[in-house]
Amino acid sequence: MKDFDLDFKFKDIVESANDIIIVTKPVNNDVTKQTIVYVNSAFTRLTGYSSEEVVGKTSQLLELFKDEVVRKDIEKKLTEKMPVKRTIETTNKSGETLLLDLSMLPLKDDNGEGNYFVSIERDITKEKSLFIELEKLSKTDPLTGLSNRRELIEYTEIEFARANRENKGIYILIIDLDYFKKINDTYGHSVGDRVLIEVSKALSSQTRIYDMAARIGGEEFCVLLSKVEHKFALQAAERIRKSISDIVVYDDDENLIKITASIGVAYNQPGESVDSVIKHADTALYQAKAKGRNCVVEYQADKKT
Ligand code: GH3
Ligand code: MG
Ligand code: MG
Repeated sequence: MKDFDLDFKFKDIVESANDIIIVTKPVNNDVTKQTIVYVNSAFTRLTGYSSEEVVGKTSQLLELFKDEVVRKDIEKKLTEKMPVKRTIETTNKSGETLLLDLSMLPLKDDNGEGNYFVSIERDITKEKSLFIELEKLSKTDPLTGLSNRRELIEYTEIEFARANRENKGIYILIIDLDYFKKINDTYGHSVGDRVLIEVSKALSSQTRIYDMAARIGGEEFCVLLSKVEHKFALQAAERIRKSISDIVVYDDDENLIKITASIGVAYNQPGESVDSVIKHADTALYQAKAKGRNCVVEYQADKKT
């Protein structure tokens, strides 16, 4: 018995859908190779391919899934005629990447049998790129473009776990600009901002691929040095200190502004937490300030502050 009388055409509904709808039929019962028997107009609108260009063609469905584990899982589900739900990446006719939320399910006839599959694909490209953009923003300092504290902590946790496995040293440098308040007071906040941008450039130019430079406070920065020996870490800290003192910034009246920084250095003992190493670097920074500023001090475990 039918639920209600169908006095409209299902095809009209399918054609007006915003989502891509594709009907396919496996070739010689091989679910990984399917011939396209129908595509709706959303398919043409989103992919750029007309119905004539694709109907009757065989799609190597599983080539879409580059990940071997995902591919095997989907193959199993299709063979068992189970529904599949995945996000897939594909390319439209003009070569642009599309991200699609795919639901694929077997179509059964009135006898509960059938050899067709329907794929419903929702375009999530815009939402996904917005999400990626927002995620990037949430980890970036807007003034300097450096990583922010959140990103630094996340990355440092990962690097510490690796360092503990590989028995390698990770160095944390906390860099605080000297008498920065005076720069703001003398030249204005926007000149202060310019100085912060120049400092961030200097830090970026001093870091290698596995290192990270971050702005973790108003005029406080952090550099993580990965896979480095003790001597080189201290040399790097000294280079950073010098590169900041070499920065040339002029105010609007062409006055040269000089800037220096104090740097505290600490490294991870096996199994030590990120928080603890940052605290140690902070202690060393405090000592560098007390020593007269514009210098590098390494944290000594046995030294009381
Ligand atoms: P010290 O040598 O002891 O570090 O002295 P300091 O003046 O650098 O330290 P203090 O912490 O007293 O001052 C930090 C200043 O940084 C105060 C604040 O106005 C300034 N600051 C914080 N964030 C920003 C920012 O985003 N832009 C600018 N221009 N200034 C900022
Ligand atoms: Mg300061
Ligand atoms: Mg400070």
